Amino acid sequence: MNQKRKPLELYVHIPFCIRKCAYCDFVSGPGTKAMQKAYEAALTAEIDAAEEASECEVSTVFFGGGTPSVVGAGMLACIMEKLRKKYVFSKNAEITLEANPGTLDEEKLNGYRKSGFNRISIGCQSVHDDELKRLGRIHTFAEFQESFALARAAGFTNINVDLMSGLPGQSKAKWEESLRTIAKLSPEHISAYSLIVEPGTLFAEQNLDLPDEETEREMYAETEKILAEYGFSRYEISNYAKPDYTCRHNIGYWNRTDYLGFGPSAASLFENRRWTNTADVAAYVKACGAPEKIREEEETLSMQDAMEEFMFLGLRMTGGISMAEFEKQFGKEIHAVYGEVLRKYEGMKLLQEHGGYLSLTRDGISVSNVILADFLL
Ligand code: SF4
Repeated sequence: MNQKRKPLELYVHIPFCIRKCAYCDFVSGPGTKAMQKAYEAALTAEIDAAEEASECEVSTVFFGGGTPSVVGAGMLACIMEKLRKKYVFSKNAEITLEANPGTLDEEKLNGYRKSGFNRISIGCQSVHDDELKRLGRIHTFAEFQESFALARAAGFTNINVDLMSGLPGQSKAKWEESLRTIAKLSPEHISAYSLIVEPGTLFAEQNLDLPDEETEREMYAETEKILAEYGFSRYEISNYAKPDYTCRHNIGYWNRTDYLGFGPSAASLFENRRWTNTADVAAYVKACGAPEKIREEEETLSMQDAMEEFMFLGLRMTGGISMAEFEKQFGKEIHAVYGEVLRKYEGMKLLQEHGGYLSLTRDGISVSNVILADFLL
């Protein structure tokens, strides 16, 4: 009998970048060829030692970073081959590569396609060179345009472009110009995040001329309106897609599909266990894949943990969460657990129930951080 396998998502972290952007707090930095080789060996060893997941089928793979396109296409091909040997892949698996302008060329892009990558996510951030410079990006807008055209020519029919609002000195007009210029290029997906100044970054040490809260709110409201003009629908707080091009990997994450993450700082959720790998790249490489040496914060989730995650991850999506699914997973009716908080936000018209689903309203999305935090029991 052909039993249906459970979906499994894979994440592979490539921690190398040409240089550090001023706002970046990801585990990333420049790496020599020798470091990349040692890293590939450690990654391969980690995959070898990982859970077999023999009852699962890989539905999505995401290579993030860092800048995965900084390393040769050959290294990514070897890792993909390793993953394919270890796991059963679904025929239509979504396989995404994060890439940055200034690191892409025709040969690499053709190599990615051959290895099975069918989605590419390109970091643009802004169409204004002065803003790109301020962010410490390595590329100009013209270089982004060139990378975008090369990706299309290589056969990528599913492209995401990342943009950032709330930048130092950014006016509403400049943000809108970034949105419209990218939307006109017609990628299938746009991620539009607002800048968060994280501790430990170059930006955190500077006096930044950031847009005020009201301007930020207006920028956010404009984003949905402008992108809708070009056929993009918002399906998550910061993500917009053309019909049928939502990012399946991210949706799986928000729906708490099992996932295994490889590389430093990569997180995993598997059979109700969560863990995060060490963020120390040198320690990661030295441990050479031994799970007991690289995994930190390993925990088995209680029912309460799982319920909280179900709520604050699921409510990020504009479609919201299925109340029947909540009951199916936890054996409790959602109002019996969250009645008070639901009444409070429904009364404020920040949450709504519709056809068995519960979702944030448009006003609720703009204050989502506060609401989602209220679902911690
Ligand atoms: S390219 Fe991305 S990961 Fe690399 S330094 Fe810049 S923001 Fe960080």
